[in-house]
Parts: sequence; C-alpha cells; structure tokens
Amino acid sequence: MNRRATVLNELGLAPLWVRREQLAAWQEAANSATAAEAAPAERTAPHQTTPAVSASEPSFTPLAQAAHHKIEAQLEHAPSTISKAPSQGAAAIHQVLQARKPGHTQTSNPVPAQLETPLDERASAIAQMNWAELQQAIRDCTACKLCQTRTNTVFGVGDPQAKLVVVGEAPGAEEDAQGEPFVGKAGKLLDNMLASIGQRRGDGVFIANVLKCRPPGNRNPQADEVAQCAPFLHRQLELIAPKVLFASGRFAISNLLQDDAPISALRGKVHQYRQLPVVVSYHPAYLLRNMPDKAKAWRDLLLLKTTLEK
Ligand code: URA
Repeated sequence: MNRRATVLNELGLAPLWVRREQLAAWQEAANSATAAEAAPAERTAPHQTTPAVSASEPSFTPLAQAAHHKIEAQLEHAPSTISKAPSQGAAAIHQVLQARKPGHTQTSNPVPAQLETPLDERASAIAQMNWAELQQAIRDCTACKLCQTRTNTVFGVGDPQAKLVVVGEAPGAEEDAQGEPFVGKAGKLLDNMLASIGQRRGDGVFIANVLKCRPPGNRNPQADEVAQCAPFLHRQLELIAPKVLFASGRFAISNLLQDDAPISALRGKVHQYRQLPVVVSYHPAYLLRNMPDKAKAWRDLLLLKTTLEK
C-alpha cells in the first residue's frame, strides 16, 4: 500500500464514500478537466485552474482524478496529527540508531522508525536519549494509533531532578487538552495526597504516566500501546534517578514491577524497580469512587513518606 493509501486507510477514508453535494462539485471540476483535455493547447497554459495530472499517475476517470486531487489538497492543509513526512521524533530515533552503526554516513531521507525499527532496537535507541531528545521524541511520536486521536502528548511534569516520581496510567481528557498529567479531579486528589506528606507537584516531585497519549474514551491502555510507550517512561526514570517511585494504580504497578498481582496483595511493602524503592497504591481515580479504600491509601502514603525519609 502506498503512503497516500495508508494515510487514507488510517483516517478511515478508504473505501471512499462521497457526499452528494461534494460529488456534484467534483463532477463539475471533472467536466472542466474533460473539456481541457479536448483542447490540449489550453492544458499547458500557465494560468490553468484545473489540477494538472502528471504523466506518471495511473489513468483514472476525470471524476476519480478530481476526487484524488481534492483529497490530496485536504491532506496537505489539514492540521493532522499524522505527519506526511517521517516525524522528527521518529527521525531522532532513527538517527540515534544510525549514528551508532559502524561506518555510518548521514542520510537526508530517514525512514520512520516505527515502520522500520524492531521494538527492542527502538527501546534501546530511546534508552540512549537525553532529556531534550526524549521530550522531542515523545512530542513527535507516531509509534502507535493513539497519535491519531490525541490533542497533546503528555510528557510529564515537574522537577527533572526529583526525589519522588509518581507514575500513573495514561492521560485523560483534561490531561490530553492541557498536555499535563493529573490535572482533572483525580489530579486534585493526587495533589492533596502529596500535600498530606509534605510533597508538592513540581517541587522535588515529577509526575508521569505509562502512556504519553490519551486512549480514546479513557479506555484501558492496550498491550501494543504500552509496549511502544513504556521505553519513554523507563528512560525518564533512568535520567531522573529519583530516590523513590510511587506507582499509582494497576497499570503503573504491573509495568514497573512486572507483577500482575492485585494491588491489595502488593500494598504495604516496599518493592524494587531497577534498584529503586517502589511504593504502590490505588489510583486516585479509583479512590474517588471507593471512599473506604482512602484509609488504605493513607497508610500507603505514610510508607512512601518513611521510604523517602530513609
Ligand atoms: N490518570 C492517570 O493515570 N494519569 C493522568 O495523567 C490522569 C489521570
């Protein structure tokens, strides 16, 4: 499938269904194209308004050609989240990989990393990025389908030298709109939870999610999305090198601990992620719906506080 067909497919525009009024407009354009073909001298006129069809294009009916050009023009001007050229983030990943190959010479036409790069190579490219490269790679990421529906990527917020990193699941609607994690109701509760142990967003604390893009309709993250996105979180944690991690909710917990046991079975003790202490607890969004478990979350916060103070 060529790139245009892939983009149309990705956008759900294939096969093409056309509104009647649109069809009429295109029909009119097609009629002018047919008229122009009947007068070859005019077809090469510099001021022609009918879109030119290149000789290398397959021959379609004038109507199909007019529709084709219309779609090309719309794709050209649409503020789409799917970039027509390889994204800078994909290019950054590609360049990190290329630059590390022996005998590397710079190419001017990088291949999108997500199409060409196996997951473990992609993860090791990400594992070598610095903070700025990571920010750009996340901002431009097109590695999974969530790039098509997001408004903003959500890198994380706070102190890049934080002592404490809070890890959540994925951005919701408000986070997607603002590009910052935990800014909705659950975020307010998280801020209050942190305040209760003397911690504050942005002040010695960094807040991030496993996924950097919002799953549509706040559905659960899917395995392929987590697989593509988690290397970003792991690199963030490596660069921040905090004293303690606070894993909030089962997605964060299972990703960091590689343990799918229920939260109730994991709470109350300090776990390890690459030699960093990890305290686990319920997700604030869950706590908003399950008041009785707030008492347990309070005990988890006390464990977090004592682990931070050690
Ligand atoms: N829930 C999360 O896990 N993360 C956010 O950023 C917001 C809600």
